[in-house]
Amino acid sequence: MNIIHRTHLRIKNDLPYFEIPELANIEWIRHAFLTRQGGVSLPPYDTLNLSHRNGDREEFVSKNKNLIGEAFHFDPGQLVLLNQMHQDKILLIKERLNSLPSLLEYDAIITNLPGFLISILTADCVPIFVVDQKKKVIAAVHAGRQGTALHITLKVLKKMEEDFGCSLKNLLIAIGPSIGSPCYEIDERVFHPEWVPFSTSRGEGRWVVDLAQINITQMKQEGMKEEQISWINLCTHCQFDLFFSYRREGRTGRQLSFIGII
Ligand SMILES: [Zn+2]
Repeated sequence: MNIIHRTHLRIKNDLPYFEIPELANIEWIRHAFLTRQGGVSLPPYDTLNLSHRNGDREEFVSKNKNLIGEAFHFDPGQLVLLNQMHQDKILLIKERLNSLPSLLEYDAIITNLPGFLISILTADCVPIFVVDQKKKVIAAVHAGRQGTALHITLKVLKKMEEDFGCSLKNLLIAIGPSIGSPCYEIDERVFHPEWVPFSTSRGEGRWVVDLAQINITQMKQEGMKEEQISWINLCTHCQFDLFFSYRREGRTGRQLSFIGII
């Protein structure tokens, strides 16, 4: 597995971001995992909040979108933001669209079309990108606790195989920053027995789990190889200067991760 550390942080137009070298080497793709830094939103959304749904002022969110567009050379209108539902609905975009439906209640999106950027907003949940290098298909997945329990990442891989003719051996996986295992404690009522190998019991019905590791294991059990997977192994809860963390802050912003076909 290719592990990305904090020292890999890069900056464009004062916006810090991470990229995955294996994806950056593919000339028909652009992608970035942004942080919370470099935007204009005020506390508790400071500063690069991209969510329209958490109480931040619309003008700040729009300005943040423009700043990212300027830095990464795209029109903000090309950015597809999902209304993430913590479910497992997957949006497929295969045909040329003049406009997208306005309310996109999905937690994953797969496309083989150029011209726009698919994206995921997070503050602790796991953002995951999938790229088929041969078929030129990309996917973006929002894998929080509920999505992980619903095996959303595996469902995306299956859809890519069934609907786009992808094959697992040609896929590259990029996993963004999320809340890490020492920091993510949950109640046993929402805990799943299959998570035991990546979890620690704290006693009294409390478990500490690692959602990124669980998603990685699900994919490996499906046949993905370690070398196909890159992981920005940074905890959003610990590195609160760099990332929004819902668990730490409650009312807070959402950082953007995007990927698109050029
Ligand atoms: Zn942590």
